[in-house]
Amino acid sequence: MTSTLSTGPVPTGSVHDVVTARPGDTCDAELAEGPWLFDLVPGYGPGASEDDVVPEPVVRPGQLPVAYQRMDDADLHERIRAAKEALGDRLVVLGHFYQRDEVVQHADFVGDSFQLANAALTRPDAETIVFCGVHFMAETADILARPEQHVILPNLAAGCSMADMADEESVETAWEELERVYADPVTGMGPDADGKVPVLPVTYMNSSAALKAFCGRHGGIVCTSSNAATVLEWAFERAHRVLFFPDQHLGRNTAKALGVPLDRMPMWNPRKPLGGNTEEQLHDAQVLLWHGFCSVHKRFTVAQIEQARAEHPGVKVVVHPECPMPVVDAADAAGSTDLIRKYVAASQPGDVIAIGTEVNLVNRLAAEHPDRTIFCLDPVVCPCSTMYRIHPGYLAWVLDGLLEGEVRNEIVVPDDVARDAKVALERMLAARPKDASPVPVSGRGA
Ligand code: SF4
Repeated sequence: MTSTLSTGPVPTGSVHDVVTARPGDTCDAELAEGPWLFDLVPGYGPGASEDDVVPEPVVRPGQLPVAYQRMDDADLHERIRAAKEALGDRLVVLGHFYQRDEVVQHADFVGDSFQLANAALTRPDAETIVFCGVHFMAETADILARPEQHVILPNLAAGCSMADMADEESVETAWEELERVYADPVTGMGPDADGKVPVLPVTYMNSSAALKAFCGRHGGIVCTSSNAATVLEWAFERAHRVLFFPDQHLGRNTAKALGVPLDRMPMWNPRKPLGGNTEEQLHDAQVLLWHGFCSVHKRFTVAQIEQARAEHPGVKVVVHPECPMPVVDAADAAGSTDLIRKYVAASQPGDVIAIGTEVNLVNRLAAEHPDRTIFCLDPVVCPCSTMYRIHPGYLAWVLDGLLEGEVRNEIVVPDDVARDAKVALERMLAARPKDASPVPVSGRGA
């Protein structure tokens, strides 16, 4: 049974069916063709994500054993159910909010990435954590898990295009350039007379373990879309400015809400010297925004909001802060997946709500609240294409492996990377508002 960071029944419908049924209405022709052809599309495969340790034997995209590709849905679901029953408490299956319903129906917990990593901590006796999400999420779960626990990502090609927009080498290069610009002749990159350092790195949870470790080593911190404002305030108490990666939109929306002027938030383009800025601009900056974005959330537009308001007078619009700033400004509310869920839960029967986030979550909220009209702002069906790579076939295949004593597609974060990344995660937890209860961090050595 699905336990729950989310509430309400898990519908058994299939966004995959929606996608394949109407290919002309989807954002991606390969997605419309179905999972196996899509798996052959080059993209975010093993090795694409930072510090991705590719275990052997590797099942590369499109190489799921044919028997699993050919199995019909009913057989796959029965196989998954039987494997879960046989494995019992030795297994915990995590399903991200953006995951397709065909997979979510098998999850023991449903939530956002950090909720899920912490949910796994409530099952310390589980030998294996199967994370139905994307690569950086499985890495975070491995960082927080006990050393003897295995973390599996059912399809190693399920990366995150946004996370991969900030790779470790580019961030190291950027940091070296910033050190040249900001280092004080006396105090270097250390604190000045005000007790502040010139710059601190802040990484969104949607980043590789290597970048979380980078933040850990450089006095920096991790944030989620729920606590980005708290984390930025924490950083501003300790530094004159912040290098925020990889999502420019979350950084800009959050800093703007805290009163940082737009002209003090220059973009850092990793392909250009000094990120495309002058030294003067860098000295004046308060937040340096990495040139990254989510390909799902950047699709939402002000025109879509205007159209929703024209077609549904009284509609309420709530969007995720990974959306571009004009969209967030035009919406009635903006916040994390958790906030969006609470916004919908607090609405009244008969209300009309347009949502700007990934379509699987929107469809699930609509199914949970049939007495309200809930729809995705984007009329084109556009699921997260990397999340979509976790097909029930892959889930069945890794679970069958466990029954045979084989751990397939394990994600292993090297100990030194995990140690430094955990420092940045612990700073995030310590930076929580005083009225919020802390989430315990355990795992390696803790
Ligand atoms: S929705 Fe965007 S940020 Fe989230 S996993 Fe997909 S690509 Fe990455």
